[in-house]
Amino acid sequence: LSLANKIAAGEVVERPASVVKELLENAIDAQATQIDITIKESGIQSIRVVDNGTGIEEEDINKAFGRHATSKINNDYDLFHIRTLGFRGEALASISSVSRVTMKTCTDGMLGHEVQVENGEIIKQQPAKAKKGTDILVKDLFYNTPARLKYVKSLYTELGKITDIVNRMAMSHPDISFNLVSDDKTVLSTNGSGKTNEVMAEIYGMKIAKDLVEINGETDDYVMKGYVCKPEHTRSNRHYISIFINGRYIKNFVLNKAIIEGYHTLLPIGRYPIVYINIEMDPILVDVNVHPTKLEVRLSKEQLLYDLINNKIKEAFRGMSL
Ligand code: ADP
Ligand code: MG
Repeated sequence: LSLANKIAAGEVVERPASVVKELLENAIDAQATQIDITIKESGIQSIRVVDNGTGIEEEDINKAFGRHATSKINNDYDLFHIRTLGFRGEALASISSVSRVTMKTCTDGMLGHEVQVENGEIIKQQPAKAKKGTDILVKDLFYNTPARLKYVKSLYTELGKITDIVNRMAMSHPDISFNLVSDDKTVLSTNGSGKTNEVMAEIYGMKIAKDLVEINGETDDYVMKGYVCKPEHTRSNRHYISIFINGRYIKNFVLNKAIIEGYHTLLPIGRYPIVYINIEMDPILVDVNVHPTKLEVRLSKEQLLYDLINNKIKEAFRGMSL
């Protein structure tokens, strides 16, 4: 079992940012409205995520660290109707097999439980006073997989990857207040106001605040909402384009193209826009179970989606010229 965990861990936990991503997804799935992330040495030394979500019942704690243990899916039907960010039940098992995990969780704000996990096994569990929610601390990442540790890039690069993940989670969940503190410095702080444009300005700079244009579109299959930044603020790479499906950040070449082509002649050569788009759709139309990181998705009716996005962006900037 421990070996299977390590193999799965290799796929799920590639780097510190993967841990942050999985823990944030869990906090969001647990309906948290406040999520505090504290990292030391870009997450290599420690990653702590505190949420005020549902917490985990005592009898479910053990299960939560088991492989393919998810409370989010019960049958085939569920697998094709995924509404939560997590569903593979691998994250906690994987993370706890390549680090030292301590978790305190409480469902009622009075008495909760504290557990210590090593090599994927709970080695200590005791009742503990706690606030409602879950407080999880991941220490010494990859201490038992030296090859993986070596593969981790510079602290600067890793911090960048973590920041990207938190930024994107904050954009797609503007009703949640996120705080990211790295080595005692606040990197991001959002207030949970519910406005994605405010989160974007927080992340990309107040200068863009007044130049974010709201776009909305609807077809039988899709409800699209987003903000496209006016072409006076461009960037030198595609990194500032964020596409989400049902609140999940995804990478998709075709939809990326729909956006860039939507700006058409408004972008100078080699410049890219700042864009946020979320598309809500019936989960049956999107297969997220393509890869363990859940970043790649397969879409049915991709062309219809291309047209919707592309047209709405063109509409937003009609009459403008470079
Ligand atoms: P998945 O998210 O795919 O179900 P995970 O390994 O990430 O699998 O988590 C296992 C289970 O532990 C979840 O299904 C959930 O029931 C529980 N869990 C994990 N983190 C939290 C959290 N922060 N708050 C509440 N429950 C959690
Ligand atoms: Mg999860």
